[in-house]
Amino acid sequence: MLKTLIILAILILGLGVFFLSDFKEKIHPPDLSEKPMVEETKLEASQKEIEGEISIITVYDNYLLDSRLKTGWGFSCFVRQSLGAGGLNILFDTGADSETLLSNMEKMKINPKEINFVFISHLHGDHTGGLSGILETTPDLKVYKPESFSEETEITENIWTTGPLGTWIKEQSLIINSKKGLIIITGCAHPGVVNIVKKSKEIFPDEPIYLVLGGFHLSGASDFELKNIINDFRKLEVQKVAPCHCSGDRCRELFKEEYRDDFIENGVGKIIKI
Ligand SMILES: [Zn+2]
Ligand SMILES: [Zn+2]
Repeated sequence: MLKTLIILAILILGLGVFFLSDFKEKIHPPDLSEKPMVEETKLEASQKEIEGEISIITVYDNYLLDSRLKTGWGFSCFVRQSLGAGGLNILFDTGADSETLLSNMEKMKINPKEINFVFISHLHGDHTGGLSGILETTPDLKVYKPESFSEETEITENIWTTGPLGTWIKEQSLIINSKKGLIIITGCAHPGVVNIVKKSKEIFPDEPIYLVLGGFHLSGASDFELKNIINDFRKLEVQKVAPCHCSGDRCRELFKEEYRDDFIENGVGKIIKI
């Protein structure tokens, strides 16, 4: 008799807790409208790409596109490839410091463990400074520096390096041979951004150049020089441009005037889907 009473009491108590929790949820439904903005970026950056899609996410730059992120003098972008596009993820350069880089990556929901290899354009602190922080989280990560290659090489399917270019400062640029054409990513473009594009065209004479992105190193250039460079870009049939970092404000202005809808405003927080 006592046993039955105890079981009955437990059942009633259990049911009570169940209904109470259900009721609580009904009077306090989760408020979706008040989700912090940062969640949207997280979602956007981590969304599973459609077949064959490549996302290029600027995670470190001195130009700001998303006020929730931090800026710093330097450059880094994360290249995420869907399975259909090769499936490998690349961190291109690492900005000037680990703290800013890791914090921006976290806010954009990029886990350092997702990186398949790091590509370093050249050995200047504003491109290598965040490497130590990345290697602390993933010590076995493969890092390709300019001296890793003597000339242009296919690193992995459809991903190439121009090889180290320039005389004084050796710098390599990354070429992705995508379905839409070549995507050329430059760090500081010390060897000259036009030379880098020409070199890429030499490696892939039959491919259109879809996008040139990164530091163009033209902050001190005159309008005359800039217009010549833009002219060369047109002659080389570069379809889209996304200059940032050391490109200079005037360079960005003039490229925007010429390229209009094909000018991509680049800065930390930018996500370009290809
Ligand atoms: Zn540099
Ligand atoms: Zn730089």
